[in-house]
Amino acid sequence: MSRIYEPFGYGEGPVARSYWPSTVSERHAWPRLDGAMRADIAIVGGGYTGLSAALHLAEAGADVALIDANAPGWGASGRNGGFCCLGGTALDADGLARRYGAEDTQCFFDAERAAIDLVADLLDRLGIEADTGSRGETMLAHRAEAIPQLEATARHMRHVHGVTCEILSRAELAAAGMASGAFHGAVTTPVGFSLNPLKYALGLAQAAADVGARVFAASPAETIRRSGDVWKIATPAGELTARRLILATNGYSSDDLPGLAARYLPLQSNILVTRPLTTAEIAAQGWTTGQMCYDSRTLLHYFRLLPDRRMLFGMRGAIRATPEALAAIGARARADFDRLFPAWATVETTHLWSGFVALARNRTPFVGPLPGVEAAFAGLCYHGNGVAMGSYAGALLARLALGRPPELPYPKLMAKPLARFPFGRHRRTLLRAILPLHAMMDGA
Ligand SMILES: Cc1cc2nc3c(=O)[nH]c(=O)nc-3n(C[C@H](O)[C@H](O)[C@H](O)COP(=O)(O)OP(=O)(O)OC[C@H]3O[C@@H](n4cnc5c(N)ncnc54)[C@H](O)[C@@H]3O)c2cc1C
Repeated sequence: MSRIYEPFGYGEGPVARSYWPSTVSERHAWPRLDGAMRADIAIVGGGYTGLSAALHLAEAGADVALIDANAPGWGASGRNGGFCCLGGTALDADGLARRYGAEDTQCFFDAERAAIDLVADLLDRLGIEADTGSRGETMLAHRAEAIPQLEATARHMRHVHGVTCEILSRAELAAAGMASGAFHGAVTTPVGFSLNPLKYALGLAQAAADVGARVFAASPAETIRRSGDVWKIATPAGELTARRLILATNGYSSDDLPGLAARYLPLQSNILVTRPLTTAEIAAQGWTTGQMCYDSRTLLHYFRLLPDRRMLFGMRGAIRATPEALAAIGARARADFDRLFPAWATVETTHLWSGFVALARNRTPFVGPLPGVEAAFAGLCYHGNGVAMGSYAGALLARLALGRPPELPYPKLMAKPLARFPFGRHRRTLLRAILPLHAMMDGA
């Protein structure tokens, strides 16, 4: 596989100290693909995108097999922050409207909203217990200049989603259980919820298998080639032959996958989790809310108090994928955490991990047929917001692969071909310029 980060990034190292596995008692032992197998539709990648596609395909009666290089939920889907929220693009509303027009932009916003409803519905109808919480999400102004952003967010949400946001001034934060001298106000959008990402991913995998999808672990697609009118996918111990192919590899994609070379840019996101906080520690900081929160930085921090009173705190960044780089970004995240939550500065970090999200050059997610590649589809590049959007992409891909029109909002911008990044396999160097620039513009 031709990948653009150091091998460490694609191995067990970055996920070895994830908190989520400790919350899951039983793990299904998925088989490895052994020998030759045929399916109508093959899915490569077992995160939310691939699993949701497998589930929806199997529910529609299709013959589907999914392979994952590691295991279902091993990638970003089993190690994220669990914010099931609006998102998926790195463009703001004006940027979207300028490029794609008002109608398609509204269709995208409808899709964002429908994506959250889809996850809620899946959890409910499949009976997946995923420790849901939070009433929507809250953005905190990290400096006074960001206060107008709170108002703008509320206007935007009212306009495109018809919801009323709650705005809190700096003085009102403590009463809302959000005491931190570092924030200048907040806006809460009553859309979205938090969940345990690994429980959700494993629940999806089980549900897909229960309705007939064949799911395989430890089965990396080493080569994928077209032979006559079928796809041949070679794994170390087997070969999967299928009429149609769905690529669902997102930040773990490799440049030798059909149609994807240099068309996605993986970026690391990193999370630390503290030990459970005591009642006295929670009171000392005055942060009592279980809301999922993020701040107004471009290189934002995202954080929430978990059901067992540990604090989860995440930030994107780190240009290298090495043990040293993970330790360094962990130290930076911890320093920021201490600044935002000074009363917890001596509370130990028990977990620290990272994983890949993916960015597109057009800064919008891609879901659709891969241009110029016969009978192949892909869903990727959710710009760090793939809990809802990845699940949604899977549902769309299932319909597309069956040759049926999507029943869900499917904006044209999502099917726009992924543009190539400059510098090919060296495109990671773009982050060397972008990340420090964002950090500088975010200020302290
Ligand atoms: C630390 C972190 C925090 C995040 N927090 C949030 C959040 O709070 N909210 C949110 O909405 N989003 C969040 N995200 C992003 C979100 O997790 C992802 O967008 C989403 O999980 C992507 O799902 P996916 O199925 O497309 O890809 P992934 O879950 O990454 O799955 C890709 C799978 O493909 C497999 N694979 C790759 N190559 C091959 C191959 N050749 N053969 C077979 N299998 C292969 C991998 O093993 C992997 O399991 C976060 C991501 C990270 C890393």
